[in-house]
Amino acid sequence: CGIVGYIGNNDSKEILVKGLEKLEYRGYDSAGIAVMNADGVHVFKEKGRIADLRMVVDADVSANMGIGHTRWATHGVPSVVNAHPHQSTTERLTLVHNGVIENYELLKDEYLMDVALKSETDTEVVVQLIEVFMKEGLEVEEAFRKTLKLVHGSYAFALLDTETPDTIFVAKNKSPLLVGLGEGFNVVASDAMAMLQVTNQFVELMDKEMVIVKQNEVTIVTLEGETMNRAPFTAEIDASDIEKGTYA
Ligand code: GLU
Repeated sequence: CGIVGYIGNNDSKEILVKGLEKLEYRGYDSAGIAVMNADGVHVFKEKGRIADLRMVVDADVSANMGIGHTRWATHGVPSVVNAHPHQSTTERLTLVHNGVIENYELLKDEYLMDVALKSETDTEVVVQLIEVFMKEGLEVEEAFRKTLKLVHGSYAFALLDTETPDTIFVAKNKSPLLVGLGEGFNVVASDAMAMLQVTNQFVELMDKEMVIVKQNEVTIVTLEGETMNRAPFTAEIDASDIEKGTYA
């Protein structure tokens, strides 16, 4: 299981699906991608292998940004409905998540009494919670930060907001996550291997950091709003290991 993300000038579908294939070794039962263009967000998900996901991705949709997920179900059976990405009720927000939200039942009972959940996952609670806080007046970044402060557990998150079409919002706690830097694009991945296809420059993230990922800019902030500076490292992985998929 793991997540990927891409924002740049190229069509994101193939980059995301290829990235998910590189994460196959981590184990998964379903997978999905969401890509965003001027028409809005397009979600494709499927049970089974990445090859099965490929079959349901609409080749006619072209979009320069998107997020993807391979799921290892912890809450809710493996199914298309429970597969990520998950969307908020208005479908303004779209989220992928690797990890486990330990207090999702409590959060649901406290904040989501009026929200009809579509899936059985702990993850959907998070995306719905962000939307509830936005309905109360918060901007997406503030609503995401407020949610992250309430959530207990492990996560690598990537979030799309249709009203902020130049940004992927990212956060990490106890689940692996890297941001990859490119010329005219940036990427997100649970494992550098997923994005070695496009870059070998990566920035490591610390727990409880949030990242504002734009096409030409990456800003790391703590949950308290402090901006962090961190130099990228060069990922040096033997290409033959990548071919064999044995790098872990
Ligand atoms: N807990 C989430 C779920 O069951 C994410 C699992 C994962 O990391 O793939 O849907």
